[in-house]
Amino acid sequence: MTKPNSISKLSSFALGLMLIVIVSCGNEDPVPSTPDPTPEGGTVSIKDVVSANYKSAVTLTVGTSSITLRSEGVPDHPSPYWGEGNSLFEEQRAGGTLNPGRIATQNYSMTIEIFPTEASSKEATSLGPIGMALNGVPIYNDREGGNVPVDEGVLGSFDRAGAHPGPGNTYHYHTTGDFTGNDNANLIGFLRDGFPIYGRKDVDGSYPSNLDSHGGHAGTTGEFSTAIYHYHASNVAYLNSRFYILKAGSYHGTKGTFTN
Ligand SMILES: [Zn+2]
Ligand SMILES: [Zn+2]
Repeated sequence: MTKPNSISKLSSFALGLMLIVIVSCGNEDPVPSTPDPTPEGGTVSIKDVVSANYKSAVTLTVGTSSITLRSEGVPDHPSPYWGEGNSLFEEQRAGGTLNPGRIATQNYSMTIEIFPTEASSKEATSLGPIGMALNGVPIYNDREGGNVPVDEGVLGSFDRAGAHPGPGNTYHYHTTGDFTGNDNANLIGFLRDGFPIYGRKDVDGSYPSNLDSHGGHAGTTGEFSTAIYHYHASNVAYLNSRFYILKAGSYHGTKGTFTN
């Protein structure tokens, strides 16, 4: 005679549970109870990863919804563009040339959203800084003055970091190199739309096969245990060189400001 009793206990328990659910639904604010299923929906905060990974040359100001990163834009690694006499000067790589520029301090300020979101209409990246590497050096796209793709001559001027100075001695990365990320899953920095950019591999050691037309996809990374949209450096050797373009095409999200 215990069986019917336990069933009736169970059903009254279930009824009570339903009532609690109904009552609590009625009292809650109209906020969806399930998380946004699309990781690019602005549900992942970049605050902790930015704080933990940018080097001391980058000063962070964390606001309620955005972070401002300030740097002088000079690298923390050797380059021929430091000029002879500097402790970080080294000869240009074999086969390379030098342009007339040198490394000089700048006054960069990039502001990005803490919860980056996908833009409904994708804006093309343009000349000048499109992001900031972890050492404070700006990231540029695949183009040079005149908005033409980097050609053999320009490629020759890259040091082994995949960088060179532009007008105003603005040293910047166009490609992978020996100090940021390349054939690995290294976090390289963040673009102006607040999304991170990585080397050519994913954290599991594979080359991503599902990158969208903006060079990114959603997934977990070494720094983000919750899936987030992130870019990867191109996996095509640029003009058959040792360099791989960091980022071409459009932003996934909405770009923030980057001033000098
Ligand atoms: Zn350039
Ligand atoms: Zn990935």
